[in-house]
Amino acid sequence: MKQLRNNVIRAGLEALYFTGAHHLLRPIFAGAGAIFMLHRVRPRRDGEFRPNRHLEVAPEFLRAMLSHLRSRGIDIITMDELHRRLTERNFSQRFACFTFDDGYRDNRDFALPVMGEFEAPFTVYVASDFAQGVGHLWWIALEMVIARASSIEIEIDGVATRLDTPTPAAKQAAFDRLHDWLRGLPGGDDLQREIDGLCVRYGVDEAAICRELCMSFDELTSFAADPLISIGAHSVTHCNLARQSPEVASREMAVSRERIEQALQRPVAHLAYPYGDRFAAGPREFALAKAAGFKTAVTTRPGMIFRESAGYLTALPRVSLNGNYQEKRILPVLTSGAATAMWNGFRRIDAA
Ligand SMILES: [Zn+2]
Repeated sequence: MKQLRNNVIRAGLEALYFTGAHHLLRPIFAGAGAIFMLHRVRPRRDGEFRPNRHLEVAPEFLRAMLSHLRSRGIDIITMDELHRRLTERNFSQRFACFTFDDGYRDNRDFALPVMGEFEAPFTVYVASDFAQGVGHLWWIALEMVIARASSIEIEIDGVATRLDTPTPAAKQAAFDRLHDWLRGLPGGDDLQREIDGLCVRYGVDEAAICRELCMSFDELTSFAADPLISIGAHSVTHCNLARQSPEVASREMAVSRERIEQALQRPVAHLAYPYGDRFAAGPREFALAKAAGFKTAVTTRPGMIFRESAGYLTALPRVSLNGNYQEKRILPVLTSGAATAMWNGFRRIDAA
């Protein structure tokens, strides 16, 4: 299914490009600007089984996007400045924000040098457990389990199941099936119990993943001293907030902010919802983030920023820079708003 969905998106991006439809749609759907969403930035790797590759782009692709934006005279601004422009209704100049979720160390090693070339500010949303070295990046753990196993035995919904994983295609199919099943489990504890079991049975040290991939608070302190960088909150445990009680969801938001503020000695005013889709962040979470005092909060729902977005500051959509689509020719399609408009059925606000 994932491959099919990817193919449909790719066909859509290509069609928009080749028909020139993005030029026609730009005046209506380009909006006031865009918030770009990234995760990891690192050089392209070979290997056929890379199920998390949509979460990483190469430094060259980031550079190409920045250069495209600069050539079109689009301002690259901080989330504070976006908040100011939206609340003051200042739409005289189109803008773009760059945001990176989770707090990966490659943001420092590969994204910062490229962003620096363009003097482009950006925000990194940190899950505080990741920075404390005790977080669970279960999607990476799952990748590592499947990469090393030639078959996986697991009980799925009470049924003993064996997934043969000898080839990259079989591994991808197993990853998609287990990923969708795990995300659908009722609680974060259920998901973690299954991942813990897999890691033990297939010899993956899950605890090491977060220390290996994410910046510690010590590292974040020197990273955040760079004037281009803002740090935002991304919950404590990287849980699906919509699945928590209101008390727990509020605490995840507030405590992650407190821990980051304490460690970095600077205010944290912006939030990104973990997962951030409509199953993980809805009207209740938007209200909780507002009540917690965040100036803005971003989802992973696709969309551009419009004048109307000023009324939905804790439900802001983003445009994913997705590792599956790193062709330079799609850059004007992404900034035209045509692609996200198509995905959204041509709605400008999606906050329900
Ligand atoms: Zn995340």
